[in-house]
Amino acid sequence: MIRTAMASGLALALVLSGAVVLATAPDKNTPATAVDADKFVARAEKDLADISIDANRAGWINATYITDDTDAMAAEVSARQTELAVKYAGEAAKYLNVPGLSSDTKRKLDLIRNGITLPAPSRPGAADELSTIATRLQSEYGKGKGTLDGKPISGSDIEAAMGTTRDPAKLKEMWVSWNDNVGVPMKADYAHMVDISNQGAKELGYADVGAMWRAGYDMPPDDFAKMTDRLWKQVEPLYLSLHTYVRWKLNEKYGDAVQAKTGPIRADLLGNMWAQEWGNIYDVVAPKGAGDIGYDTEALLKAKGYDPIKMVKTGEGFYSSLGFAPLPDTFWTRSMIVKPADREVVCHASAWDIDNKQDVRIKMCTKVNADDFVTVHHELGHNYYQRAYMNQPFLYENGANDGFHEAIGDFVALSITPNYLVQIGLLDKSRVPSADKDTGLLLRQAMDKVAFLPFGLLVDKWRWGVFNGSIKPDQYQSAWDALRLQYQGIKPPVARDASRFDAGAKYHIPANTPYMRYFLARLLQFQFYQAACKQAGWTGPLHRCSFYGNKEVGAKLQKMLEMGQSKPWPDALQAFTGSREISGQALVDYFAPLKKWLDEQNKGKPSGW
Ligand SMILES: [Zn+2]
Repeated sequence: MIRTAMASGLALALVLSGAVVLATAPDKNTPATAVDADKFVARAEKDLADISIDANRAGWINATYITDDTDAMAAEVSARQTELAVKYAGEAAKYLNVPGLSSDTKRKLDLIRNGITLPAPSRPGAADELSTIATRLQSEYGKGKGTLDGKPISGSDIEAAMGTTRDPAKLKEMWVSWNDNVGVPMKADYAHMVDISNQGAKELGYADVGAMWRAGYDMPPDDFAKMTDRLWKQVEPLYLSLHTYVRWKLNEKYGDAVQAKTGPIRADLLGNMWAQEWGNIYDVVAPKGAGDIGYDTEALLKAKGYDPIKMVKTGEGFYSSLGFAPLPDTFWTRSMIVKPADREVVCHASAWDIDNKQDVRIKMCTKVNADDFVTVHHELGHNYYQRAYMNQPFLYENGANDGFHEAIGDFVALSITPNYLVQIGLLDKSRVPSADKDTGLLLRQAMDKVAFLPFGLLVDKWRWGVFNGSIKPDQYQSAWDALRLQYQGIKPPVARDASRFDAGAKYHIPANTPYMRYFLARLLQFQFYQAACKQAGWTGPLHRCSFYGNKEVGAKLQKMLEMGQSKPWPDALQAFTGSREISGQALVDYFAPLKKWLDEQNKGKPSGW
C-alpha cells in the first residue's frame, strides 16, 4: 500500500485509485451460500495480498530508479493486479445478498467490491477502452504546460511561480494558459470516461461512480453527502472571516482595478493555481509586528546542523516519545531519504508498506527546510499507521476511512509548536514567541488549513454531479465556476465560456483520485489534536499545545490505529477521541482567537460576495 503526501501534489500518480476494473456480471442462477461466500473471501484476500507485495516491490523499484525496464515491469504487475481486482469485485457483488453472512464476510465483500475507483463494464473491449482513456488523461496532465512571458513553463514550475509572482498580468497569463492548455483538450475524453465507468458502477450495484465513491464511508451514500454539508456549515463562518480579511488586503496591495473591495476574489491572486491554499501570499496579508512570528524553522534546522537523516530521526523521535517502537533497521537501509545523484526518481514524497508487515519505508528528496520537516512527520504518520494495523487481515490493513490515513501525520505535525522546538533543542527558550505573536502563528496556519476547506469540499461536489448526470458536459465549466463562486467566493481572472474545462486542469480530476478524503483529513487532524491535548491535560490556547512525550496519548492512539479498517470508522474515532462523529468544531476552537482578531479587523468592511 502506497501513501502519497498532500492534496496539492502534482505527482500523485502512484495512488492505486487510478486502476480501471472490469465488473463481472453476477450470475443470478447460482445459488451461493454463506459458506461459499466465506471461501470466496478467503481466496480473494489471499490472492490480493500476495499480488500487492509484488506490486509494491515493482512500484518501489520503478519510483526509485526510473528506466524503460522498470516502467515496463511495474506496468506489468499493475495490470495483473488490476485484472485480479476486476475479477473479484464482480464476484463479491454476487455474494453480497446471500443470507446468513457473518459481519466480517459482509464487510470484506463490501471492501472487495468497493476497492476500485474506476470500474469498467463487462462488455468486450470496454475495459481496454476505459484504461486507454484514463492513461491518456493522466499522461496529458503530466505533459501539460502553461506560459510565462509567452514561453512554455512546466506544471511544477508554474505551480511554484504562482506562489512567488506578484504581478497580476503575469499571474493572469499563467492561470489562463494553464487552464486552457491542460483542461480544454481533455474534455471529450473525460465525458466519455464518465459514461463508460458509470456503466461499470451500475453492474457492481451502485447508482453511479460518485455513489460508489460515497459508499466507502460505512453509511448510505446520500447520508455521507449530507454529512459533508453539515461539516462545511460548521467551518463556513471562519472561512468567511478569512475571505473578508484577505480580500481587503489584496485590494490594498493591488487596487480596485485588480481586486475590488466587494465581490469574489480574483482566483489567480491567491498564490496557488487552484486558489486552494493561500500560504504563499502570507507576506501580502501579514499584519505588521504581530505577523512576524519571530523565528524561522529553516534557519534553526540549518544552524543546528540538521541533515535529512537527522530530520527523519527527529520525526521518529516524536513517535517514540509517545511510546511507539522505533522504526525497524530496514526502514533506514531501504528508505530513500535524499535524492540520488545518479538516476531518475519520483521525488514526490510518499510512504510505503512493502510487505504489509514491518517493511515500511519513506521515499523523499528531503531538503532541510520547514516544509519538509512537516512532511517528514506526515509521511511517518502513514508508516506508523501501517505498522500498527499489520496484524489485521489484509483487507483490513487500511485507514478507518481514507481521511484518517492522511490526518495522522498532520495531526502530529500540529504539535510542532515553538515549545516543542525548545524541547528538542532547536529553539532557545528565550525566543519562544510571546502571546502577542499568536495572531501571526494562527494566520499563517489558516492561510493553508482554513483556505483549503471549501476547495476540498467542492471538487467532489462537482464530480458527484458529473457522475450522476446533473452536470452535463456542456455545463462542466459553468458548474465548476458556480461551485467555486458559491463555496470559495472566487472568480476566474477572465470570463470562461462553455468550451473551457478548468476542472480538468486540476490533477485529481484527470487522475480520478477521489478528493473528499482531503476535506475530511483537514477536520480530523484538528479533532485528533484536540483530543490528544485534552488527554495530555493541556489547558492553554489549543494551538500552543504539544503532546510530545505523552505515553497515555500514544497508547490511546495505538488503539485507534491498530484497528485499521476492521470496524466502521466511528468505532475507530471513538477509540481515540471518545466521539463517534467527525466534527469541524476542533478546527473552529483552534482558530477561535484568530477569528476574533479577524472580525475586529473586518469591522465596517464588506463581507461575503
Ligand atoms: Zn499522505
